[in-house]
Amino acid sequence: MALLRERDGRRLHVKSKLMGESLVGKTFMDGLKIAPQQRLFPDVNIIKIGGQSICDRGVKALPAIIKEIAQNKKKHKMLLTTGGGTRSRHIYSIGLELGMPTGIIAKFGSSVSEQNALLVATLLAPWGGLKIGHDEVLKLSTYFAQGCLPVMHGMPPYDYFALPAPKWRIPIHRTDVGTLIIADLIGARSCIFVKDEKGLYTDDPKKNGDAAFIPEITVQDLLARDLDDLIIERPCLEILQNSEVIDKIQIINGLERGNLAKALNGKPVGTTIYKA
Ligand code: ADP
Ligand code: MG
Repeated sequence: MALLRERDGRRLHVKSKLMGESLVGKTFMDGLKIAPQQRLFPDVNIIKIGGQSICDRGVKALPAIIKEIAQNKKKHKMLLTTGGGTRSRHIYSIGLELGMPTGIIAKFGSSVSEQNALLVATLLAPWGGLKIGHDEVLKLSTYFAQGCLPVMHGMPPYDYFALPAPKWRIPIHRTDVGTLIIADLIGARSCIFVKDEKGLYTDDPKKNGDAAFIPEITVQDLLARDLDDLIIERPCLEILQNSEVIDKIQIINGLERGNLAKALNGKPVGTTIYKA
């Protein structure tokens, strides 16, 4: 990076490709050559433990999934994230009734998903479970070298800056989104969502008995279907489409033993949504 002195000799600039650009110009940005995104931790699997779908079921769901995570620890590096679930929904509905802005609702969501991170980390403590904050994500190598199983809350830290959505004030970027963004950030080996259904259906199988299971689909095809309800937060689709380093996400049923191991071993289980 060269230094450049203005003709009048007074001002000194750092010469760069972006110098003097608005960073909004379409033609300029399209023509900009940049290095491909580095994959910081390409051997780490990101696993989201569902809030409503898993954590809220307590003893009926969590111990089995905790055991499966522990059993796979030697073979696979895992960073766990957690959803908020029913307690988030409760505080969201109270907040909305009382006219709270999106940023306050998002803050509520962060603290509830953090409670679940503490819960999961505590259950995993005998196997190295350790609750970490978002800032700790670049210390993953150290955690794995020490035999830890890091657990982080899934809500992205937009908090007061959560983007107001057009129709409602529930933040659209919640714990599925936070999980996928972390997977993109570290260039993860896989991004697995552990929930309570086989995977994606044409409609919510809890409400529509005729919903058909979709084992695999591309983002483009899924967007084209414009389904009324989804098993993952909608912005995940665009984030996957834009990712340079993540080419698929997988949604599995965590109420069935063995599914997590299958997903970690690259076996087709649940639904795989492909970037293309
Ligand atoms: P999490 O606890 O991981 O945040 P959610 O409860 O928010 O999970 O989302 C999972 C739920 O989404 C499933 O239990 C299912 O009832 C519902 N769902 C809605 N639409 C669909 C769909 N198209 N296919 C499958 N499940 C769906
Ligand atoms: Mg959810």
